[in-house]
Amino acid sequence: MKTRREFIKISALGLGGVAALSSISPLTRGASAIEKLLGLNRNKPRIVKRVPSYCEVCFWKCALWADVDDSGRVVNLTGNADDPHCNGRLCPRGTGGIGMLYDEDRLKKPLIRVNGENGQTFREASWEEALDLVANKLKEIADKYGPESIALFNHGSPGHHLGHLLKALGSDNIAAPSYAQCRGPREVGFEFTFGTGVGSPEPTDIRDTRCLVLIGSHIGENMHNGQVQEMSDAIDRGATIITVDPRFSTAASKSKYWLPIKPATDIALLLAWINVLITEELYDKDFVEKYTTGFDKLKSYIRPFTPEWAYGITTLEPDLIRKTAREMGSAAPAVIVHPGRHVTWYGDDTQRARAVAILNALLGNWGRRGGFYFKEAKPLPEYPTPEYPKPSWSWKDVTNDKYPAARLSVSNALIDASIHSEDKPARIKAWLVAGTNLPLTIPQKDTLEKAFQDIEFLMVLDTMPMEITGYADVVLPECTYLERDDDIRNEPHRELNIAVRLAAMEPMYDTKPGWWVARELGLRLGLEKYFPWKEYREVIEWQLSQIGTSVDEMQRLGVKKFEGRKTPLYAETPEDYQFKTPSGKIELYSEQLESMGFDAIPRFTQHPEPPEGYYRLIYGRAPMHTFSRTANNPYLVDLMKENSVWVNPRVAALWGLKNGQYVWLKNQDGVVSHFPTKVRITERIRWDSVYIVHGFGHHDKKLSRAYGRGANDTELITRVSVDPLMGGTGMRGNFVTFVTENPGKEVVS
Ligand code: SF4
Repeated sequence: MKTRREFIKISALGLGGVAALSSISPLTRGASAIEKLLGLNRNKPRIVKRVPSYCEVCFWKCALWADVDDSGRVVNLTGNADDPHCNGRLCPRGTGGIGMLYDEDRLKKPLIRVNGENGQTFREASWEEALDLVANKLKEIADKYGPESIALFNHGSPGHHLGHLLKALGSDNIAAPSYAQCRGPREVGFEFTFGTGVGSPEPTDIRDTRCLVLIGSHIGENMHNGQVQEMSDAIDRGATIITVDPRFSTAASKSKYWLPIKPATDIALLLAWINVLITEELYDKDFVEKYTTGFDKLKSYIRPFTPEWAYGITTLEPDLIRKTAREMGSAAPAVIVHPGRHVTWYGDDTQRARAVAILNALLGNWGRRGGFYFKEAKPLPEYPTPEYPKPSWSWKDVTNDKYPAARLSVSNALIDASIHSEDKPARIKAWLVAGTNLPLTIPQKDTLEKAFQDIEFLMVLDTMPMEITGYADVVLPECTYLERDDDIRNEPHRELNIAVRLAAMEPMYDTKPGWWVARELGLRLGLEKYFPWKEYREVIEWQLSQIGTSVDEMQRLGVKKFEGRKTPLYAETPEDYQFKTPSGKIELYSEQLESMGFDAIPRFTQHPEPPEGYYRLIYGRAPMHTFSRTANNPYLVDLMKENSVWVNPRVAALWGLKNGQYVWLKNQDGVVSHFPTKVRITERIRWDSVYIVHGFGHHDKKLSRAYGRGANDTELITRVSVDPLMGGTGMRGNFVTFVTENPGKEVVS
């Protein structure tokens, strides 16, 4: 049965200009084919200018130089040597960022959904027509239901521009899945402990550490540039690496200790480590006395949680738990228990992050060399615009205080608020989506599908025809980061610094920058006072002038460092340091949490185990891809075109699986992966789990290289355990089994 908003799989229209390229065999569609077609394969292109930018292949934001040749095309990207995020070196994905620019599958023109004879399709439209349609729809919905009924889902810089538009219109319903689906719990867990979250880049002083503990954190596969470089240097200097992971990850292979923990038991290990540090008096006594509160309560609470207790839960030998705790104790304070990044696993994730924070506090590493430094950002004034109108309700009202510690909007709560039922009419009626591919990001596909059917309007702004565009009423093609001016980067770091992103070439096809789209919509909605500039360069120039520099200077430098930190990098006068908690101290025992009805100290709870014949689905990252974002990038597909499922040899033998054999994965609720994935038999995974890299298994044919390649983990995540504190969606409680015969699904050869 056709639904109101039918997913548009293939559009005969909207693909203008692709025909010539699509005749190339997928096998030859690598970087070289693209280079050849675009005339980029000259041995020595004549570089006529280099333009400063920062990378958007992931959100580490490494500053770079884009080399532009005499035909006006970007031909090369190199890291900016003055940039603390990358130290002059881009990761493979960053270098391959040029593939985003020349990917012939890019969105090229605005598209509008139409009902045709053969069902729904897109037709190409002019910008004028598409923007008028979007503005009229938004106005109609805002007039009828209030501006708050419009929500924005976003990731990256276009979200900032559309966020400005939405706030000017009167809505604060803005959500980034990176909060509830990724790192929100660690921010909240650290805030309850230290009074501040972790942020990005994490202020981990890895370059000077003597011991780095990674618990479910995959530096090396999670290729956050500066961090990887610092870890590599730390290893060369002889730092001890301890990796806790059910999988022998790249980081585990570089580690002195690998702890192949039974999944879902990490809090038990963390409590046992805390137990050893306290009972063996390995913690930093001066630090704990000066800066923490609640130590006595923690000490008495932790007594029963010995390594022997944890052994029965985690399957880790007590001796290994003791040895690794002693390594941490002897390296302290130059030791880091990394807060992790993607931490939404089992629903008690904020409490697990708090256990990590408490462990760090006992090691006395907060504000200490080789531990966590005090990060600071160069203050950058916002371009002056009038105050935003105050929304009459926001995402907080939608959640009804269900997630009392959520500091940012919870994407799933906004999705739930978009679904209509008799007893609970939908409050959200329209979505703007920018730079985030919700179908491959949000678990519980059925809920998302319901929301797609119930909302009255959906606009997508993206560079690529990601699956989300198939649900849109209007698709607006954004130009890539190399083709646009954009916000100044002023992320906190050791040194105060800024980086600029300036357009290195004219936008290809009929694509436009996110700031331009936001402004054009703003003008159509009568919000011109919020967009008093014509070009974003004026905003950048004004901001730079406020901090004593200019576009001219930044064109030469790309990155500028500043003197004048307000806080020291390390706690030089520790006696005076005040934490931003209610007590002014690090809260080992949280009275705040207790008063809210939650555990004041983290507690281990059992999580569901895989049923017979099923294995826990663990997913992660590969160094050459950023989620689903890069799965079609011609350069990066050359490095890795599909994912495989890691299977322990014992399990493979049980199932008679062979290396390289394609299988479908079926989850505990009977959902079978759209596409098959290759079996990789390896001792590097525990027998109770399987592992795949996230971001593959695209089912939109417009992504010609990514279509049908590998299994999509998100579609197999039909159960989530929601974090009661901040609404994070724990996604590691799903189990899969193997389907070896084709269950009637399409296979892409
Ligand atoms: S880590 Fe790599 S992909 Fe991410 S911003 Fe830096 S160079 Fe780009």
